[in-house]
Amino acid sequence: MQDVIIVGGSFAGLTAAMQLGRARRKVTVLDTGLNRNRYAEHAHNIFGHDGTPPGDLLAVARQQVGQYPTVDLVQGKATTIAGEPDSFVVTTEDGRTIDGRRVILSYGIVDEFPAIPGFAESWGKTVIHCPFCHGYEVAGTRWGLVYSSPMSLHGPVLYANWTDDITLFLDGNDIIDEERAKLVKRGVRIVDGKLAAIHHEGGRVSGVSIEGGERIALEALYAHPRNRPSADLHAQLGLDMKDTPTGTMVAVDAMQLTSRPGIYAAGDLTTGMHSVTFATNTGSLAAMGALQSMMV
Ligand SMILES: Cc1cc2nc3c(=O)[nH]c(=O)nc-3n(C[C@H](O)[C@H](O)[C@H](O)COP(=O)(O)OP(=O)(O)OC[C@H]3O[C@@H](n4cnc5c(N)ncnc54)[C@H](O)[C@@H]3O)c2cc1C
Repeated sequence: MQDVIIVGGSFAGLTAAMQLGRARRKVTVLDTGLNRNRYAEHAHNIFGHDGTPPGDLLAVARQQVGQYPTVDLVQGKATTIAGEPDSFVVTTEDGRTIDGRRVILSYGIVDEFPAIPGFAESWGKTVIHCPFCHGYEVAGTRWGLVYSSPMSLHGPVLYANWTDDITLFLDGNDIIDEERAKLVKRGVRIVDGKLAAIHHEGGRVSGVSIEGGERIALEALYAHPRNRPSADLHAQLGLDMKDTPTGTMVAVDAMQLTSRPGIYAAGDLTTGMHSVTFATNTGSLAAMGALQSMMV
């Protein structure tokens, strides 16, 4: 019987495993190796590691966490989960079962790319979700933002920290005249039509085409596609969920405990603040919560 089974061994899951391993708890980490930022060449805004390739960060973390004798790092996909505190059972795709007293779900989210030619190829390179992560490298150039929800209207205000050349692509959506006037007053260009294609070379965007033929030159395009949890274990467990502007996340308390006793969750699965720092922070909290709950 393991103390904790961790589903998802990336930034959140490996942080939790490190904390529990150092407390000499028996931990199994299941992971399929598809960290969300694997499309990006470098990860930024990370204390002490600004500009390091995401795969390098994870490789070092795996090597360090793997040195703790009570931590078992397993390459494998968790497919089912059942049970109660002190007797959870997680089953993997290859038929293995793991028993554990507590579970931490840290399997992240999947971005659902729109069917715009060039989007998937440029994602993480110059089609970007977050200016704090990748804005500095394209500061002062021509930026676009694809409207996806009313939250998008905050984008141009934030992006003014990096550039004064911003185009908002409504992509067939409408916004009220008052919002439109505010943006225009800020110098934001607004394009109403639907995006037809993103032009790029090896993921380096040079512009977009709008249905009807208009072409607009750009060096960076911000987008917030819909996302969904990477697995369905939260649904199997019937966990409470919360809506975010781009999807849903698992609802947790201050120590990352979900709506079911013994089940903790961490990382992008539990916060709208998607970053490595928040993932490691919530992974650490989940480990602490799980540990405390086993000490009573
Ligand atoms: C293009 C892009 C670039 C980014 N750049 C930055 C950046 O520069 N700086 C920054 O701070 N943040 C960045 N982010 C955000 C960052 O990637 C996420 O916040 C972070 O990866 C979340 O970590 P996580 O551990 O919650 O999930 P993830 O890193 O997504 O890891 C989830 C893990 O769970 C595994 N998994 C999924 N399902 C299962 C299953 N059923 N069984 C076992 N394992 C499973 C996956 O394979 C994966 O390894 C970027 C995001 C994107 C999309």
